[in-house]
Amino acid sequence: MSAITEVKRPEIKTELPGPRGKEIVEADARYVNPAYPRPAYKLVVERGEGAWVEDVDGNTFLDCNAGVAVCSTGHCHPEVVKAIQEQAARLIHMCGTDYYYRHMPDLARKLEELVPVPGPTRTHFANSGTEAVECALKLAMYATGREKFIAFFNSFHGRTLGSLSLTSSKIAQRRGFKRQALDVVHVPYPNTFRHPFSGEQSDAETVSRACLDWIEQRLFLTTTPPEEVAAIVVEAVQGEGGYVPAPKQFLHGLRRICDEHGILLVVDEVQSGFGRTGKMFACEHYDLKPDIITLAKGIASGLPLGACVARADLMNWKSGAHASTFGGNPVACAAALKTIELLEGGLVANAAEVGDYLQAGLRRLMQKHDCIGDVRGLGLMVGCELVRGNGSREAAPELRDRVEVECFNRGLIVLGCGYNTIRWSPPLTLTRENVDVALEIFDEALTAACR
Ligand code: PLP
Repeated sequence: MSAITEVKRPEIKTELPGPRGKEIVEADARYVNPAYPRPAYKLVVERGEGAWVEDVDGNTFLDCNAGVAVCSTGHCHPEVVKAIQEQAARLIHMCGTDYYYRHMPDLARKLEELVPVPGPTRTHFANSGTEAVECALKLAMYATGREKFIAFFNSFHGRTLGSLSLTSSKIAQRRGFKRQALDVVHVPYPNTFRHPFSGEQSDAETVSRACLDWIEQRLFLTTTPPEEVAAIVVEAVQGEGGYVPAPKQFLHGLRRICDEHGILLVVDEVQSGFGRTGKMFACEHYDLKPDIITLAKGIASGLPLGACVARADLMNWKSGAHASTFGGNPVACAAALKTIELLEGGLVANAAEVGDYLQAGLRRLMQKHDCIGDVRGLGLMVGCELVRGNGSREAAPELRDRVEVECFNRGLIVLGCGYNTIRWSPPLTLTRENVDVALEIFDEALTAACR
């Protein structure tokens, strides 16, 4: 089997999906949960290396999605594979809720060193982002004795019932489930490209002020007594909602509101964490100190692991209050420790450097394609919002879907997020050469989709 990383450009040899891919898609339709929100194209993968994936029919793609912002060190990084293999040969599972092994304290100690939560901290290990969020919600209720939460429109925090009460990025995620499990009120998120009240472009100060006023001057005076609010839960960079970074003054305003009313600030860095934004955590761009942070996705290069890290004085609940059979599994922890070593060893810096290069390239494409309304993001968490063009800022969701497919047909994997945004969330190993190839394909795909 030849190394895919020797490939410099995508290679598409069959129709997509090819004959083997079609069989798998058919079997999937018969046996697998149809609620998975698959995109307009069908990628049936067989193997991956670095920023490249090969499908079951031998086609090679440049992956600028990384399994939805998960494969932070690239696909199957040899050192991560080795750490997983060695750990799997020694101990796969023992259940950290009842027994002890070194991996959980080792990783929790490392996280305390890294996270923006003021130390000392404690960590609960879970298996996914939504479980990390569930832990944060339960902990906030337990620690404050309060029950209400404030979350943001267009946020995504997961699909289990507690997290789903916060999630509000697409109606399909909520339709059919009727009532919220938790008492959550949603408020506007400060998107500078589309001010949540006017829809117009705005400056960071104006939009931040409007959104903070909404909480303090409306919510707290009408429906939601601040002393009943356990936590405000926010993504420093909205992920599924469209890759929208919050302005610094807004996040600091939330911190102030929390401090004034004894509310906990939970920052969900499930998508933005672990180097994706060019710093280990997005909070570092803002000098923001949450009380609780939720983590998953990029933490273990693809092994299932989530973490909820909280101030130790908050996470002092009693035995039995919260636990998980698989959470903090030794193999996943070994993958996380190796992932963090690689991130600290250069991949976070690479995300910052190559991310700037990618954003600059996308901005150049903006001059050529007026359907690119906005390019935004931090590091390798970059959103490209598509609009009708010809002077119109009207959102163009169908065009976004067509662009995704045109990219795929040319061997570039990108995935939508929000209503009309293309997300770039490649492995943090991406090189400038990869970006040059990706931008060339993106340029062609935009031209083809606009035809
Ligand atoms: N929080 C954020 C910010 C996310 O982006 C996601 C997933 O996209 C989640 C939570 C839920 O993570 P999971 O799908 O692992 O449950």
